[in-house]
Amino acid sequence: MKKDPVCNMMVDEKTAVTADCDGERYYFCSEGCRDKFLKERSCKLPRTSYDLIVIGGGPAGLTAAVYAATLKMEAFLIARDLGGQAIDSTKIENYMGFDFITGPELVEKFQYQLIHSHYIDHLLGDVEKIEPVHEGFNVVASDLNSYFAKTVILATGMTRRKLHVEGEERFQRKGVFYGNIQDLSFVQGADAAVIGGGNSAMQIVENLHTIAKSIYLISDSKLTADASIVERVSQFENLVKYERFKVVEFSGEDAVSEISIRKLAEEETVKLPIKGIFIAIGLQPNAALVSDLAELNERGEIVINSDCSTSCPGIFAAGDVTTAFGKRIVIASGEGAKAALAARQYILNLKKK
Ligand SMILES: Cc1cc2nc3c(=O)[nH]c(=O)nc-3n(C[C@H](O)[C@H](O)[C@H](O)COP(=O)(O)OP(=O)(O)OC[C@H]3O[C@@H](n4cnc5c(N)ncnc54)[C@H](O)[C@@H]3O)c2cc1C
Repeated sequence: MKKDPVCNMMVDEKTAVTADCDGERYYFCSEGCRDKFLKERSCKLPRTSYDLIVIGGGPAGLTAAVYAATLKMEAFLIARDLGGQAIDSTKIENYMGFDFITGPELVEKFQYQLIHSHYIDHLLGDVEKIEPVHEGFNVVASDLNSYFAKTVILATGMTRRKLHVEGEERFQRKGVFYGNIQDLSFVQGADAAVIGGGNSAMQIVENLHTIAKSIYLISDSKLTADASIVERVSQFENLVKYERFKVVEFSGEDAVSEISIRKLAEEETVKLPIKGIFIAIGLQPNAALVSDLAELNERGEIVINSDCSTSCPGIFAAGDVTTAFGKRIVIASGEGAKAALAARQYILNLKKK
């Protein structure tokens, strides 16, 4: 694998687009990145000023970026990864156009649109700071470069919440995992616990049901996942539900081997021997970049208006990081499209002034 010198993406040298310069061969994810490389090399000036910077490479950010490209905006995408949470979904049954598709397959299609069908400049990396400046914003990325844009779309999604119980840190990746993992063979024929009551937790139960002996589904409330998936997993003979139970402690020697739980408002703890624990108790919005610039609600989500604008003129937000109702791929994508349209309108209005 080789690193694209423009966007930092790892590319397969057998299939990558290449350019030979000064006796050296360079590998690119797309013709767009190769053209950018050759242009910036000939004028010795990397591009750092745009109309729009989109931050985040999940469904919201990728859709906003593709829309910006189709709207012929001077746009730049900066994202830690291309895919976001959607890549963790093993079974997407609620995205229009597909009866069933896996997260990685859908994300591959999104990426193809971004890189090949509607190329826009992109960089794989973290954004560390957004600073308001005259007529726009400076966006400081982890490559320590600062990029200027007249408007910004924040589509930074959410990251997994922790339980904060005894043993959680100690047994991380020693039997304790967050969300779905690819290789579940370590719980083959053994008992496993899934903690959470939403769709992500149910997906893990589905993945475990032909592998684990017993699955303990532990939730501190009634299950909140979509009714269809709850109905399906409830039929699994190896599923034992512990609704309205609180996790007290994880214990074990080198790896986790027991979980202690307690029914809400009761004293007595129940100890369950297990080999794996999968925590899926929700996510927290990644809104820190704008916490001093735009209004957040009590859950830490960015408060948006119906056009994805925020309380800070010029900053738009889309997807799971916002107050938009429904944390779903199709909703995040729709919101990303809306934010791109609104950002374009904002720029047109700036030009009129
Ligand atoms: C296990 C699992 C299964 C799911 N299954 C389904 C399903 O079947 N159907 C469904 O509709 N939804 C499902 N979801 C929910 C769905 O994935 C999310 O609603 C959707 O991905 C939200 O998209 P987003 O673009 O708003 O945010 P995210 O997908 O969270 O993407 C955020 C992006 O921002 C990037 N980022 C964050 N901070 C920075 C920074 N400082 N600098 C640069 N980049 C940054 C991240 O790396 C990521 O690329 C599932 C979620 C999970 C976790």
